[in-house]
Amino acid sequence: MALKLFNTLTRSVQEFVPLDPQKKKVGMYCCGPTVYDFAHIGNWRTFVFADLVRRTLEFSGYDVTHVMNITDVEDKIIKRVREQKTTLREFTGKFEAAFLDDLKALGCREPHVKPRATEHIAEIIALIEKLVARGVAYKAADGSVYFSIEKYRGCGCCYGQLLKLNLDEMRAGERVASDEYEKESVADFALWKARVPDDGDVFWPSPFGEGRPGWHIECSAMSIKALGETFDLHLGGEDLKFPHHEDEIAQSEGATGKPFVKFWLHGAHLLVEGKKMSKSLGNFFTLRDLLAKGFTGREVRYLLLTSHYRETFNFTLDGLHGAKTALARIDECISKLRDMAAGKIEQADDVYLGQFRDSLEDDLNISAVWGKIYEWIRQTNKEMDSVPPVMRSFWAARRLATWDKIDSVLGVGVKAEAEAPAEISALAAARAEAKKAKDFKRADAIRDELKAKGWVIEDTPKGIKLKKI
Ligand code: AMP
Ligand code: ZN
Repeated sequence: MALKLFNTLTRSVQEFVPLDPQKKKVGMYCCGPTVYDFAHIGNWRTFVFADLVRRTLEFSGYDVTHVMNITDVEDKIIKRVREQKTTLREFTGKFEAAFLDDLKALGCREPHVKPRATEHIAEIIALIEKLVARGVAYKAADGSVYFSIEKYRGCGCCYGQLLKLNLDEMRAGERVASDEYEKESVADFALWKARVPDDGDVFWPSPFGEGRPGWHIECSAMSIKALGETFDLHLGGEDLKFPHHEDEIAQSEGATGKPFVKFWLHGAHLLVEGKKMSKSLGNFFTLRDLLAKGFTGREVRYLLLTSHYRETFNFTLDGLHGAKTALARIDECISKLRDMAAGKIEQADDVYLGQFRDSLEDDLNISAVWGKIYEWIRQTNKEMDSVPPVMRSFWAARRLATWDKIDSVLGVGVKAEAEAPAEISALAAARAEAKKAKDFKRADAIRDELKAKGWVIEDTPKGIKLKKI
């Protein structure tokens, strides 16, 4: 089966065929974080979704270039830089580093290109100049440069490719200066914002005067630079369809005269305990908040990957506890396979992987994917004890190789066997001594002490094994 995805542009599930004549290379751009705060769990749903798309493409054999920009200059950032009396770089650098740490904690593959808007001012200016030269952008009395929707439509171009917009109700000549605005105000939007006192020292020289770029033009300039004027895939959360992505299309197609993106993919939003996340409701979580509650990045990743990307997902702390249990079941099975395989390497089971691929390539049918995985775990556990001794290492190694392929897509990994600290190893040794001396009371007391410290001892034929609870 070929990979099928829901393309927002055509509002249908379509077979994904890359632009590359060899059908091998794929260019994918995901709108990255605006680095003015720690990313919240809603943002992470979208970035984990982007990671799943990339891993799926790689699993399907494509050679992917994954680009994720860092928005390090826009309205909200400038406001905070001003409030905190700091510099742009110092302020955004802290949140960019935190974002990349969190990305790793969630098991996401690092994007190949991570362009920063502030390092693409020349490309942004060049793109705006093109739009001015083509007559679809103009300088207004406030010194800013705006994109003219009327002129763009006048050239036969379509504004509103992702969303049905009621352009007849549009009031000609209206403008919006801010980066974020509502559907009701389809209007000329800012490409270059003339310097105002509130910007402090956040401004650059340009042929249009000193100022800074609007948010939308940043993504057009960076994606075209990294992936070319037309590329395969563009992703983001559903809230970005309008105005951000409509504006990206208009700017890019307005400047190049070519189709901008072949496939637009949008991830649905995440709610927390059934409600829109907000600080005032106390249901606002960053990844760090969840780690501080004792959950791990892989538990959060697992939970985010349990729902289909086009369905609103209700994130709950109970769900995270469930993720812990589900992962423990996987870990136990894989850990037994490791012991049985004893280092042997085998080929994966292609028949099973073919079935797994069919579900995955069916518009990322994640519930069918998990269904197949749990059936596989159940069968593995069932067969484990009845494999003839001569076959055990071969059988387990084959299963492990299969799991590695599955996990190359899901990225939930397997909990590394935690290294026991010296104090814990010493207690384990003391317990072994006590057992040898037949002092079972002391041996049991030490076992309880270990348990209180978060470790369990397992007596195996190869000796004792310490496991973190
Ligand atoms: P931002 O840093 O605000 O530009 O957002 C980064 C990404 O997170 C964008 O793709 C947004 O669409 C996405 N996003 C924001 N809020 C949510 C949410 N509640 N659920 C899912 N994705 C979200
Ligand atoms: Zn963007």
